[in-house]
Amino acid sequence: MDTNMPPLVEVRGAKQSYHKDSAADLVVLEDVNLSIASGEIVGLLGRSGSGKSTLLRIVSGLMAPTAGEVLWRGQKLSGPAAGVAMVFQSFALFPWLTVEENVELGLEAQGVAKAERESRAETAIDLIGLGGYESAYPKELSGGMRQRVGLARALVVHPDLLLMDEPFSALDVLTAETLRTDLIDLWIEGKLPVKSVLMVTHNIEEAVLMCDRILVFSSNPGRVASELKVPFAHPRNRLDPAFRQMVDDIYALMTRKAAIPAAAVPTPAAEAGFAMALEPVSTNLLAGLLEALAAPPYSGRADLPALAGSLQLEADELLPMGEALQRLRLADLADGDLHITEDGKKFVEENTDHRKAIFAKALLAHVPLVAAIRRTLDERWNHRASAVRFRDELEDHMSPDYAEATLLTAIAWGRYAELYNYDEQAAQFNLDDIDATV
Ligand code: ADP
Ligand code: MG
Repeated sequence: MDTNMPPLVEVRGAKQSYHKDSAADLVVLEDVNLSIASGEIVGLLGRSGSGKSTLLRIVSGLMAPTAGEVLWRGQKLSGPAAGVAMVFQSFALFPWLTVEENVELGLEAQGVAKAERESRAETAIDLIGLGGYESAYPKELSGGMRQRVGLARALVVHPDLLLMDEPFSALDVLTAETLRTDLIDLWIEGKLPVKSVLMVTHNIEEAVLMCDRILVFSSNPGRVASELKVPFAHPRNRLDPAFRQMVDDIYALMTRKAAIPAAAVPTPAAEAGFAMALEPVSTNLLAGLLEALAAPPYSGRADLPALAGSLQLEADELLPMGEALQRLRLADLADGDLHITEDGKKFVEENTDHRKAIFAKALLAHVPLVAAIRRTLDERWNHRASAVRFRDELEDHMSPDYAEATLLTAIAWGRYAELYNYDEQAAQFNLDDIDATV
């Protein structure tokens, strides 16, 4: 790395707020600073909703920050950066185009002639292990192969910076691991036609496995809370005690008390709690996790990596579950541990009916959205309320996909607790057959 060169890309004091009609701005990023040098893989690790995708859009120039600036090789960026390519969690392929046509797309935009497009697409397709599938359509491919197409399409332009937004999280465990390993092998062999990689993930192990440097992002608002260098040579061994220790340390950083999800800005609705997205975790999983936590060997307190290991969960699956329990005050997350609260213990000891009652009490006390739905139903003469108004209200504070996921979680949790019913056909909450005395 040449230290006299300016970094490849630098973000200085970036702030991002989303403007909302009916409420104060939602501040998603606040004073974010980072720089990426040539030749490194940097990981951006943070909880869901902390602003990672927003930051990637800013780095790529697709979105201008509300305040602050982005420098590419020392030059202020205004508009989409040349020399970046992006890989998305959802693959984002065109279903009506073949593999080769999808891959060529990036070059078409650059005005590269047909013959050269074909030969470069061919090279990228071979490199990423898709040789022979040039004329297949996305629907004929497995998820892992589709993401290989996404990678080939990004690599074909030989970007200076490859941005990857949770590229493996839609894949099953084995497929994801194969793709990670293949990518790192290519990187080590110097075969990846990119200078640097910035990769967003909420999977701690993935970050430690792949990155030279990890930026841990805090939420509400998002900022770079800590930075760690990963000192291990490739290929890395997940079972190496030093590797495990680093995963442990990052768990602790990510569950530091200060990082408890809180409303981003104290707007009136935020105080009512509408600004908080709910973790999409089923009540079955929450009950199972509490039971495992209460039982030996944990007996109420568990180290998160150990718990993830014994439940065969990935970090990015366990953390949202821990956060949901913490939100409901059934367990508490701190310094890399999950420990059960008194209410959590009671929940585990009780039968189903009492469990539902404990859950209902926790929801009404700590999940304002659920409380608001129930209050509205109580107040209405016909005890019915359309989901639309709650969805609209949520969308004032979060993106439509977060709003949808939050609403679905509120439906599932409220149903389990028997606080209300939900009629999918009518998209309506109701109190049919619900005990009025909560
Ligand atoms: P992450 O990628 O870390 O999950 P995002 O950058 O997607 O986070 O979103 C961060 C926050 O910004 C979330 O609360 C989300 O609801 C909100 N947000 C993202 N995009 C928009 C948008 N277009 N309009 C309003 N809010 C948005
Ligand atoms: Mg994202």
